[in-house]
Amino acid sequence: MDAMGTTSLAGGIRIAWANTQGTPRRQVSRELLRSLLGENSRGHSLTAHDLPATTTPAATFIQECPVCGAEDHGPLRVLVPDAVAPLVSVSYAGQFAVVACAPAQTRAFGIDAEFNTARTRAAIAESLASIPFDQYSSTAAVYTWTRLEAIAKARGTGLRGEWELPDPSGFEFIDHVLPTTPEALFLSVAIQR
Ligand SMILES: [Zn+2]
Repeated sequence: MDAMGTTSLAGGIRIAWANTQGTPRRQVSRELLRSLLGENSRGHSLTAHDLPATTTPAATFIQECPVCGAEDHGPLRVLVPDAVAPLVSVSYAGQFAVVACAPAQTRAFGIDAEFNTARTRAAIAESLASIPFDQYSSTAAVYTWTRLEAIAKARGTGLRGEWELPDPSGFEFIDHVLPTTPEALFLSVAIQR
C-alpha cells in the first residue's frame, strides 16, 4: 500500500485512502481502517511507514447486508476491546479504497467517493433523470450523487435499483477532493452529529 494518504476534515472526521494495486479491496480498506483506529488510540499522526501491521489494534469488523444477510457487503461496524468504537464508512472507486472514521458520539455517518469521468456522469444522469443533463458537466453533479450515496450508507440502506432520493434532513455534508493520481477523487461525507 504505497500510494496512500490521510486527511482530517472539519470536526474530527478522519479519512484514509489507498490505491489497492491488485490487493483485494476489502483487505486494503480494513488495513486502512485499522490504521485510523490505531492513530486514534495512539494519538499521533499516521505516516505511510506506520502501515500496516505494527499499529494494528485488535479491532473486529462486522458486516452484514440488511437485505440479503450476506457478510461481504452492507454496513460495516467496528468493535474495539474496552472502548467505544467510532462509526466508520468505506467507499470504492476504480482501484481506490477510501475509508473514514467519525468523531465520538456521531449518530449517523457515511461516505462516497467517485471519479468525475464521463462514464460516472453518464451513470449519474441515468439514475438522476429528474435533474437536467446539462448539470452533468460539472463537479456539482458528481457531488449530488456522492451525497446521496453517503446518506444511503449513513442510513445503512445503500442505494438500490428502484431507489428514491434518500431524505437528507438532519445531515450535514462535507465535500472534499482527494489528491489521488492520475485523477482526483470526489468525496462526500454525510454526518449526523
Ligand atoms: Zn445484500
